Amino acid sequence: MFEHIQAAPADPILGLNDAYKKDPNPNKINLGVGVFKDEQGNTPILNAVKQAEKRLLAEETTKNYLSIEGAPAYRSAVQTLLFGHNHPIITKQLAQTAHTPGGTGALRVAAEFIKKHLPEATIWVSNPTWANHQSVFQSVGLEVGSYAYYDANAKSLDFEAMLASLSQVPEGDVVLFHGCCHNPTGIDPTPEQWYQLAKLCSKQGFLPLFDFAYQGFGQGLQEDAQGLRTFLEYVPEMLIASSFSKNFGLYNERVGALTILCETAEQADTAFTQIKRCIRTNYSNPPSHGSAVVAEILNDKELYALWESELKGMRLRIHEMRSLFVNTLRAKGVIQDFSFISHQQGMFSFSGLTPEQVTQLRKEYGIYIVGSGRISVAGMTHDNMGPLCDGIAAVLK
Ligand code: PMP
Repeated sequence: MFEHIQAAPADPILGLNDAYKKDPNPNKINLGVGVFKDEQGNTPILNAVKQAEKRLLAEETTKNYLSIEGAPAYRSAVQTLLFGHNHPIITKQLAQTAHTPGGTGALRVAAEFIKKHLPEATIWVSNPTWANHQSVFQSVGLEVGSYAYYDANAKSLDFEAMLASLSQVPEGDVVLFHGCCHNPTGIDPTPEQWYQLAKLCSKQGFLPLFDFAYQGFGQGLQEDAQGLRTFLEYVPEMLIASSFSKNFGLYNERVGALTILCETAEQADTAFTQIKRCIRTNYSNPPSHGSAVVAEILNDKELYALWESELKGMRLRIHEMRSLFVNTLRAKGVIQDFSFISHQQGMFSFSGLTPEQVTQLRKEYGIYIVGSGRISVAGMTHDNMGPLCDGIAAVLK
């Protein structure tokens, strides 16, 4: 029965990570997978998480199933983080949130929900976008289109082209936006551009799906929600996929959420029954631990303050690495202009390195970068910056 099955292609990002692990080079550098690393190259457990876990361990009395949609304390905390304290959406109960296994789980449930209830809809993603978007949506049979986003020559957002392509999206289709820290380019719309996008969305009548995987990694928790909150002023319906893998460092606990916003509380309740149905037939109900940690932190003043300061620490470290990278390349005599990297935000930047240069860096210098030239800035440290920039300077010659 299984003889005829052919091997699936390696995942472009996780496959690279496997190759990195196998490389015996002691000086190897991993700028592939998007995981935060500290100065020692470790992905630490946040102190806020450790403290929350201690409390949970002491207080936990059961491992009984959660409900399909997850724990109430978590679900309401997610909404406060997205919309802000006591936002009318919350007080009028216009949104419903389900805890999903990670942001990927949220996207997958959203995809199934869209396929079932908006069967004619095409989903539009930015060009480029996170490598898994297309696969997740196609896996449920959705048509996936792409809209213009990146200007490879100017290394910036091609906003005119973005507006032009989104103006072609018909009413009833779905458009995916990266809430902040666009993956893979590191380039987000400005506040004014978000405003124009929200107005266009309202005029065209497409449904926005916000993928919000890096809240707090750009400028701050509230600042990073600015695009989403601008949309709330113009658009009454949307889907939001949250991930807490990065901002809580809870990668392997699989904590995310899918939020649906409707015009009335009644519609939100009704639509949510269908979201719960997608979950029930998929993984039945979510894993508890990670969401209990997030809820404990978000619902406790002291832990929240500690988490916010640790999140700030991660954000500032990445910003610092961006500047250091640009300055070190310059100091090594690289004449190409890399200053755009210090203006971008989040974990990633598009370096502009070609696939050939990326291969040469891996083979000759043990420097691992995704084939598209996307670099995970979080993998840089003061210690590896010198060898990293030496390698890049050599392949650019
Ligand atoms: N969306 C984007 C844009 C991402 O970068 C990621 C993680 N790399 C995800 C979603 C998925 O997040 P999670 O690991 O929580 O499934």
